[in-house]
Amino acid sequence: MNPWIAKALVLAGAVVMIAIRAPHGRRSRTVKVAKSHRTALETGLLVLAWVGFFVPLIWVVASPIFSFAEYPLRIGPLVAGVMCLVIGLWLFYRSHADLGTNWSVTLEVREQHRLVTHGVYRRIRHPMYSALVLHSIGQALVIPNWVAGPSNLIAFAILFAFRVRAEERMMLEGFGAEYAAYAARTNRLIPGVW
Ligand code: SAH
Repeated sequence: MNPWIAKALVLAGAVVMIAIRAPHGRRSRTVKVAKSHRTALETGLLVLAWVGFFVPLIWVVASPIFSFAEYPLRIGPLVAGVMCLVIGLWLFYRSHADLGTNWSVTLEVREQHRLVTHGVYRRIRHPMYSALVLHSIGQALVIPNWVAGPSNLIAFAILFAFRVRAEERMMLEGFGAEYAAYAARTNRLIPGVW
């Protein structure tokens, strides 16, 4: 199969993702940060996440750079990947809508920060991270290349592994018993599983 389909899908997914985030990013910036928990490690993880995000886009425009790692595109992984991309983008949209101006790209608590426990936050604490995992699994399945395919997934897995406990500690510090009770009745990424 011709990889132009994969290129169009990856490009469309990235454009939709940016279009979902941009207005929320603008709106959140209007609310002051009360306490930042951004460390040097967190900054490094964000840089890594950006690299992971851009590698598939570099593959879209300059795939010969990655030709040493390519393999044939097949219909099964392509269809499964499209499903992951679509569900991931839907969840990304919903989690931004539910989190509203409480969203930050890094670890920080805003002024008048509200603990969100409704919508897609009702059963899992990190639906936006679930969305990013789904989207990056989608890319790994759709891109027929061993380097450009999983780059986003690997970068995000590292960010998640180092960030999730620090984020939950920060939320517990900010919201106390309310967050403890919320954490006790929810899972992290997959409803009813983990
Ligand atoms: N981990 C969440 C949010 C990612 S954005 C998710 O995956 O959906 C990261 C920021 O969101 C954190 O800095 C924190 O300020 C905020 N945040 C995380 N969980 C929250 C919640 N349940 N309610 C309100 N804000 C939250």
